[in-house]
Amino acid sequence: MKPVGPIPAGYEAIDGELAIGGKRASEWVAEAGRTPLFVYSRAHLDARVAELRAALPRRVGLNYAVKANPHLAVIGHMAPLVDGFDIASAGELGLCVAVGIDPKRISFAGPGKRDDELEAAIAAGVTLNCESEGEGLRALAIGQRLGIAPKIAVRVNPSFEMKGSGMKMGGGAKQFGVDADRVPVLARRLIAEGAEWRGLHIFTGSQTLSADAIIEAQGNVLTLAAELTDAIGHGLPKLNMGGGLGIPYFPGDTPVDLPKVGAALAERVANLPQALADTELCIELGRYLVGEAGVYLTRIIDRKVSHGVTYLVTDGGLHHQLAASGNFGTVVRRNYPSAIASHYEAEPTEEVNIVGCLCTPLDRFADNAAMPHAEVGDVVAVFCAGAYGATASPSAFLGHGPATEMLV
Ligand SMILES: *Cc1c(COP(=O)(O)O)cnc(C)c1O
Repeated sequence: MKPVGPIPAGYEAIDGELAIGGKRASEWVAEAGRTPLFVYSRAHLDARVAELRAALPRRVGLNYAVKANPHLAVIGHMAPLVDGFDIASAGELGLCVAVGIDPKRISFAGPGKRDDELEAAIAAGVTLNCESEGEGLRALAIGQRLGIAPKIAVRVNPSFEMKGSGMKMGGGAKQFGVDADRVPVLARRLIAEGAEWRGLHIFTGSQTLSADAIIEAQGNVLTLAAELTDAIGHGLPKLNMGGGLGIPYFPGDTPVDLPKVGAALAERVANLPQALADTELCIELGRYLVGEAGVYLTRIIDRKVSHGVTYLVTDGGLHHQLAASGNFGTVVRRNYPSAIASHYEAEPTEEVNIVGCLCTPLDRFADNAAMPHAEVGDVVAVFCAGAYGATASPSAFLGHGPATEMLV
């Protein structure tokens, strides 16, 4: 038997069935008219933002990293809840604009921004988090051509990274950001050549559950930002401190101690280095904001036995939930939190493998998991599906097409 990951807080049962946002899973499936289905819960999103606001010092703003879940209704729901939006493509810019977000609230990071993307962002008044000298110079040239001073922040590739980070995005050679020792020269040049200086962006990692690692990284970020500001010789309008808060996916994972992170940050913010005295601060979060708010619902199509092992074959798969299958940045495959939604409160009675419908052995949701008895037609729930699900999975693979998504 292999355990499944911890089911996030806030999911209840109605008549023994999993409930999301006050309705039974089967009602959402009926409303959508089909499975597979991603259900994103407004109540979860609201609760998570409220927890963050309560824990973080007021001085520190909260940005939503759109790539975690760019579903239009989710972005729209987040619009009044967070301070800023971090995008990573002109496509994401289009989504934010479509739901009426003021481009002044948007910053654009990511390596390999095309000229047309830079132009769209500069024309709209989005802040560019500049990833290289070359990109900075292209932005200046495009700004000149448009007659608009581009708003530019420099993304720093720091020499440190967040310990225990699920995905390493800082420290050593990276395709992200400008090596810290070259930032002052670039920033001075951008300012001298007419950019509107928007500050620094220092992202040190992702999917970290350790409060101590987050606190240490935030301390390092503030120290580095102050050093760079002194070296640049211009006041720092804004510092995007990165994020990195993770969510528990696997057995043994425990949630981030958010009050501890918030208290340490409050202490630091109360004693900022002089260089940052007037700097606007923010953190940027994707997964932590939306991950636990999503549930992937998929129907059992077949129940079969092979060499004594029971397989529940669903109509979903890694084409929608690559991460849950263990093929998106994990080394050892472990079971995501999952359950039989139709019999959510029933005791486990059997050991099963829950798999997807793709013709590849990679397509599995739960190995050797203890579940209540389920039959063809019952619905399986895979939790922690709100981030890096629908759009971070190869939905064209094998031709089944995308899942339906709904915000409830
Ligand atoms: C992906 C990304 C994020 C969001 O990361 P999460 O782990 O989802 O919080 C934030 N900032 C940048 C620059 C990113 O690339």
